[in-house]
Amino acid sequence: MAEEQTVQSEATEERTERLDPATRARRDAALRHVRVYGDPSLRSRARSIEVFDDALADEVKRMGRLMDDALGIGLAATQLGVMHRLLVYRVDPDAALGVLINPEFGYKSDELETMEEGCLSLPGVGVEVERPLHVRVRASDETGAPVVVEASGLEARVIQHEIDHLDGVLILDRTSRDQRKQAMRAMREAMAGRQPDSSPAVSA
Ligand code: ZN
Repeated sequence: MAEEQTVQSEATEERTERLDPATRARRDAALRHVRVYGDPSLRSRARSIEVFDDALADEVKRMGRLMDDALGIGLAATQLGVMHRLLVYRVDPDAALGVLINPEFGYKSDELETMEEGCLSLPGVGVEVERPLHVRVRASDETGAPVVVEASGLEARVIQHEIDHLDGVLILDRTSRDQRKQAMRAMREAMAGRQPDSSPAVSA
């Protein structure tokens, strides 16, 4: 596990260094829409969605574009300052966009896994977070149709990360005190522009 994580963060550094200028510019433009640490919308509980209209469908498409441009694997509406219960995610680049509205956990496994996570709202931060390995979530899609997702591994992780966002919870709340301290330092440096681009691969 520890070895895997090292490999992953090295691969990330390579990947971000090699971003071509157009991809990097698109990423920076997308990230300007994402609220960062200190913004109250990251610390508030979002309200349920009652109306499934064209505006909601448009919002879902926009979130999918911003997530892709930001090179993230998940995005919650609250990260854009929109305080309702909508999240999008995509773990497999070839998969359709995952859309969960008003998500509720039906099941969380007792089996846990620890992995490094990053967050589009916490620049420069990568911390280890322990989460259930398997989850089942009931939600609606953007048309209001019911959806049930059974997810494991990274997919289960990103869904839990985004549902946390809808409840005002951040990965800083789910890691050790030591890692939180280091994360706060890394974030200050990243936000001051001293640390060019070292966001971890798995940012959501
Ligand atoms: Zn996040």
